[in-house]
Amino acid sequence: MRISDIRASTVTVPLNAPLRHANGCHWGRFVRTIIEVETDEGLLGLGEMGGGGESAENAIRSLKRYLVGHDPAKLEEMRFRIANPTASLYNNRTQLLAALEFACLDILGQAWGVPVHAILGGKLRDRVPFASYCFWRYAHPETGKGEVRTADQLVDYARELKTKYGFTSHKLKAGVFPPDYEIEAFRALAHAFPSDSVRIDPNGAWSTEQAIRVGQAIEDLRNDYLEDPVFGLNGLRRVREMVRIPLATNTVVVNFEQLSANVLDVGADVILLDTTFWGGIRPCIKAAGICETFQLGVAVHSSGELGIQLATMLHLGAVIPNLSFAADAHYHHLTDDIIEGGLMRYQGGAIAIPDAPGLGVKLNRDKLRQYQELYRELGGYPYDQDPLRPNWAPIIPNDRWADPNDVRCPTLKPEKIQSRSLQPELR
Ligand SMILES: [Mg+2]
Repeated sequence: MRISDIRASTVTVPLNAPLRHANGCHWGRFVRTIIEVETDEGLLGLGEMGGGGESAENAIRSLKRYLVGHDPAKLEEMRFRIANPTASLYNNRTQLLAALEFACLDILGQAWGVPVHAILGGKLRDRVPFASYCFWRYAHPETGKGEVRTADQLVDYARELKTKYGFTSHKLKAGVFPPDYEIEAFRALAHAFPSDSVRIDPNGAWSTEQAIRVGQAIEDLRNDYLEDPVFGLNGLRRVREMVRIPLATNTVVVNFEQLSANVLDVGADVILLDTTFWGGIRPCIKAAGICETFQLGVAVHSSGELGIQLATMLHLGAVIPNLSFAADAHYHHLTDDIIEGGLMRYQGGAIAIPDAPGLGVKLNRDKLRQYQELYRELGGYPYDQDPLRPNWAPIIPNDRWADPNDVRCPTLKPEKIQSRSLQPELR
């Protein structure tokens, strides 16, 4: 079997409300590029990647010359063909490789009549548990609803998510407001659900000393871990000396060189594996094996996904024995999906692992067209900018926190319009 064509289509799918984070904001929607790999035997494999829009489409199309005629079963060969580690000094294609790996695994599963998890060692569980993944949110620009800015709003929102989806672990994406404000809100969240676990993640925005202070102020809670309190392995090592909570990262251990540095001198106790950042599901499984050997914890990271990427996270979660914690997903913040059957369903805080051949998801072409059209209308959005703070830059460590008393709501006009007037209109 040979690859005969590769296609890429960028879509944008609305979120329930704009999600704020330490680096800026998801401006009310995600932009994702859907990859289709076709074979000479008529099979079609699906992949997905984030962010880049037209540039991601062009980057994927540019790899046709490397991969048309390639056997999709030769995954290691593909890795070196497009992402040889020294050649990658000139062109970092790790995320492109990941999307193509997903599609090739999808093809192989369909060709062999087995789900991807069966190719990867077989599933050890039927469902993957997820955390609630609470964000500070701007109100929805059209409805004016959905704001999460105060501790009370955060607790109400987590309760709503728990009631709807059954989560028993609650994550706060922090690093937006001053650390003391977030400590208070996080403690309120933990106290509202005393039998559930909690985790906080400021995306490395705190200084080492701030991180130690915050860590010590939440030590008594039922923490899964403290995620990326600072940026950098040495910072994590310093925090780890002073705080009695396991530390986790999805930012500074995202390849095997970094993992080896972390094994030799531990900074992160828990490695959050991302099927995109690591270059596919298979490298995540390799990394999980190294973590198993050295008794490091493992969980599944979310970089913002639609159903295809979610399927890769589920197949990964299915086969790693040392999945120590509930996975993260942005998925429940979406209003819709581009796969057949619509959004996958949570039950008891978990999502069932697909058992159909391949990744187990199929494209809904009407939805694909609908959200391609929406992308053409709206364009991209700057993930690392805040719509209401146009002149702000997310420095690390940060000391330019958002104002928790600011009740404004952005209009979130399309970027093309926004770029003509950097100061957005206010409601
Ligand atoms: Mg994180």
